[in-house]
Amino acid sequence: MSQADHSKSPGNSHGIRIAGVSKVYAGTSRPAVDDVSLDIAPGEFITLLGPSGSGKTTMLSMLAGFVSVSAGKIEIDGKDVSRQKPHKRNLGVVFQQYALFPHMSVTKNIAFPLQQRRMPKAEIAAKVDEALRLVHLEEYADRLPSQLSGGQQQRVALARAVVYRPRALLMDEPLGALDRKLRDELQREIARMHRELGMTFIFVTHDQHEALTLSDRIAVFNEGRIEQVGTPSDLYERPETLFVAQFLGESTCFRGTVDVSAGVLRCGGFTPRAPRLDAGLDGSGGVAVVRPERLDLHSDAGSVPTGHNRVRATVTEIVYVGNHHQVGLRFADGTNGSAMRVAGRDLPAVPGEEVTVSWDPEHQSVVADPADEPTAERPAETLGAAAT
Ligand code: ADP
Ligand code: MG
Repeated sequence: MSQADHSKSPGNSHGIRIAGVSKVYAGTSRPAVDDVSLDIAPGEFITLLGPSGSGKTTMLSMLAGFVSVSAGKIEIDGKDVSRQKPHKRNLGVVFQQYALFPHMSVTKNIAFPLQQRRMPKAEIAAKVDEALRLVHLEEYADRLPSQLSGGQQQRVALARAVVYRPRALLMDEPLGALDRKLRDELQREIARMHRELGMTFIFVTHDQHEALTLSDRIAVFNEGRIEQVGTPSDLYERPETLFVAQFLGESTCFRGTVDVSAGVLRCGGFTPRAPRLDAGLDGSGGVAVVRPERLDLHSDAGSVPTGHNRVRATVTEIVYVGNHHQVGLRFADGTNGSAMRVAGRDLPAVPGEEVTVSWDPEHQSVVADPADEPTAERPAETLGAAAT
């Protein structure tokens, strides 16, 4: 697609370019955002995903112009806007704390940015009507924000943010305060708005499901840096770091030593085959990551397809979750894992019994073991599962 090409091409004159941007807040020493580069294509739905404190809000605030950049630059359609005032950037924003004007009706709230732009009255009325239709609030035009539910208030905020057709819409956890059902509903509304408007959407969340559902691409933030950028399936199927693998979805993680020439990971007791190993990892610690739906369980090891990795495990628990069973596994080296079985298919074992676990090595990713890097902090939970 031409959009994807744009985002990777140098000299991106259309779209939004973040080039080597850092932020060090006054009175702090560690950067909140640390040398982030990202190209966002026109019309793209991109999500900044990461845990609390990873720098998402800081990055979005620098894009919007609410927070200054300490280093690097931000370009919109080829123009450096790093020092431009927020209103000059022509971006719509819906931040968590971005409240509506409480004394103004829904209509007046939505009309506000158009009045500021000195648009003629008749045109304002038409644009507001169109925005009300977009967020399905035609019936609520005359109400005050206090007469609306939380979800309806966020719809008004969305309508107000897009009514003047900004260059892009920036949203910081806009669904954070809503309960599950309303969240799901508004998620679908946001996806529909994106399709209808064809506008660039930049969305911030710490919720992996929200990110996977909505985004064309996701940038995973960790400690102020981007760990990986890719489509939802890139990140899920081909995580490049242990952080990405563990932040998005569940996985079983086998730790060992990478042997590139043999094409294997040498774990304590077994050596899974590993195609496409990164040569830079040779001789150092690696983690083979496998998603639950890729693990097959067999009572009879004879049924494992040739070429697939196999290892024995004890079933620790079986949890029924509606359309599938989650099967907890403990491997001989102490690694804990989980497999998923579609409900209605026979389970090969009950808790306490042993099974053979197998998977296609094509469906596994081998990433560097952060616990093996002398400079990295050693996270306690990753050490606990280390192969012996
Ligand atoms: P996120 O949105 O991912 O939770 P933030 O961008 O809010 O992350 O915060 C990133 C880091 O910057 C955190 O360590 C936070 O404490 C720090 N931080 C955020 N805002 C400020 C500020 N105004 N002054 C100093 N430190 C800040
Ligand atoms: Mg935040």
